[in-house]
Amino acid sequence: MTKKKLIVGNWKMNPETAAEARTTFTKIKTKAAKLKNADTVICPPSLFLGDLRKLVTGKRCVLGAQNCHAAVSGAHTGEISAVQIASMKVPYVILGHSERRAAGEGDEDISQKIKAAMASGLKVILCVGEEKRDRDGKYLRTVEMQLLNDLSKIAKTDLSQLVIAYEPIWAIGKNALRPATPGDVFEMKIFVKRVLTDKFGKENADQTMFLYGGSVDDKNTEEFLGDGQADGLLVGRASLSAEIFGKIMEIGDRVAAKK
Ligand code: PEP
Repeated sequence: MTKKKLIVGNWKMNPETAAEARTTFTKIKTKAAKLKNADTVICPPSLFLGDLRKLVTGKRCVLGAQNCHAAVSGAHTGEISAVQIASMKVPYVILGHSERRAAGEGDEDISQKIKAAMASGLKVILCVGEEKRDRDGKYLRTVEMQLLNDLSKIAKTDLSQLVIAYEPIWAIGKNALRPATPGDVFEMKIFVKRVLTDKFGKENADQTMFLYGGSVDDKNTEEFLGDGQADGLLVGRASLSAEIFGKIMEIGDRVAAKK
């Protein structure tokens, strides 16, 4: 059986208007409906989730939130809960993004959010990644500690609700040093699988998809999914253009069909 690729777009605090969000989402959704071997998730600002939810028509292009609070409800101004996200029939949430970690979110916060999100039935896209590379392998230890701490409150059966996105901070955003190489991505995939296998067992670890994120565009998609052996991609800037993101989705579909 072909293993579908998962192509996720993180729109961050974009676009500026709900009308633009609807237009871009509709174009992406139309493209996704034609692709049998790639599934797409769009994570818009939470304010637009309700509006875009009305445009979702099938399973090939669904929505995700960019964050959630660990509590079910209560006095948390400006926050949204996992229960609320799930009640909108939004199936995914990104947690642990480096921009949120930089804003002060720690592993303990993330572990509580993961537990809450999974209890609500959401699929969690957990972002991990080191700030910089070093020669003696400290970056591997950084990722290992993020995984072990962030996943400390879940059971092995919860791994079916988990997607790992490896996002090295040095490769993300417009100030990125460079994108990672397919070799960097493949090495990290093997490493992440080993950490998950040691903690949760091989059968459960095998269910967890491994995405790469960091300066992905339509020119480098094929190498990350091919030589890098990523199960999918988490795309920032390039997901704001339906044309470029559409090409990334098409390449994902093609690479999956070849396997
Ligand atoms: C991100 O910040 O999650 C990301 C992958 O951004 P970009 O694709 O713009 O590097």
